[in-house]
Amino acid sequence: MTSPIPAELDPPQRLLLGPGPSMVSPRVLRAMATPLVGHLDPAFLVIMNEVQAMLRQVFQTQNPFTIAISGTGSAGMEASLVNVIEPGDTVIVGVAGVFGARMAEIVGRCGGRLVKLEVPWGQVFPKAAIEEALKKAGKVKAVALVHAETSTGAQQPLEGLGQLCHDHGALLVVDTVTSLGGVPVTVDAWGADVVYSGTQKCLSAPPGLSPLTLSPRALEVIKARQGKCPSWYLDLGMIADYWADGKRAYHHTAPITMVYALREALRIVLEEGLEARFARHRRHSQALMAGLAALGCTPNASEGHRLPSLNCVTAPPGVDEAAVRKALLLDFDIEIGGGLGPLAGKVWRIGLMGESSRQDHVVAVLAALEVLLKRAGRVQRPGAAVAAALEVYAS
Ligand SMILES: *Cc1c(COP(=O)(O)O)cnc(C)c1O
Repeated sequence: MTSPIPAELDPPQRLLLGPGPSMVSPRVLRAMATPLVGHLDPAFLVIMNEVQAMLRQVFQTQNPFTIAISGTGSAGMEASLVNVIEPGDTVIVGVAGVFGARMAEIVGRCGGRLVKLEVPWGQVFPKAAIEEALKKAGKVKAVALVHAETSTGAQQPLEGLGQLCHDHGALLVVDTVTSLGGVPVTVDAWGADVVYSGTQKCLSAPPGLSPLTLSPRALEVIKARQGKCPSWYLDLGMIADYWADGKRAYHHTAPITMVYALREALRIVLEEGLEARFARHRRHSQALMAGLAALGCTPNASEGHRLPSLNCVTAPPGVDEAAVRKALLLDFDIEIGGGLGPLAGKVWRIGLMGESSRQDHVVAVLAALEVLLKRAGRVQRPGAAVAAALEVYAS
């Protein structure tokens, strides 16, 4: 018995407004369809240099060590922690959602001594709380924080935290997976030492690479390790020899096509300009949130700390949020996210990241939600949500 060969691939065309992946520009898809070269081909080495230079601009850093890890955002997270932490090292992790919890889990697997800071999901850590933890914990190797907590829609302020960590002899590690390219990420101004991101959120490329940058201070700490990095694949010392201009020593085969994709996505980011791009993300988020408020949704993250790239709101009271999301996907081809952990069944997470952050997308998702809530008997006269969004656009 042989099973029949499946038909040629023909996936549905969805509007991706979930927590990632976001919509991908046709320019990026075209770049991915261009011919392969070898990963040590001089032509590819030029492409790598270009990607590194553009990543420095987007991360707003001068760090020479600015590369893309082969793997998704979680690979960047693991690389960041596994290279820095040695058994017994104390690491303070801010846990206010799924991704902070993932960092804490990795610290444990590296044999680190975890000091977990917690606030309710949707809130952020005050600088004073981090300072107090640093004073109490004794010798601390690193403080790890999530800039944009995708599970709650909260944005952690990072101003002054690099200096605070350095005053206590600690490194500052930051997850910018859902902020890079959508919300200001200012690595050098923060004084952050290890910062990683992902390609499929605000950079709007497919998932598969994790941009990562290391300060000279972080590089010294990694060089001074007592033992080898326990991960061979994510050993930044060895990966550095591949990305370093002039060396380019084989470590593993770079995912060429993904590097093409990232290169084109970064060109699009820089053509738009960082400030214009951040303003666009803020504007469409404002319009979306106004429309959602008209439907009876309330923001999950605390006032003044809401992420424009990931809009997390409680579903309207009395609504089966999962049923609405399912109908949104099957009847309207629109993907949005549900809640994770304690927020499961309670919230919607609507991503307006990169290419997804557009007026037509905001209007489409609000109009579709109004149709579905009317169907569920929760909205009498549809139109109020779209009207509220249009009011923001008119102002
Ligand atoms: C998506 C995400 C990750 C993990 O990225 P993957 O690409 O799913 O591995 C890590 N941190 C944050 C904040 C994220 O949003």
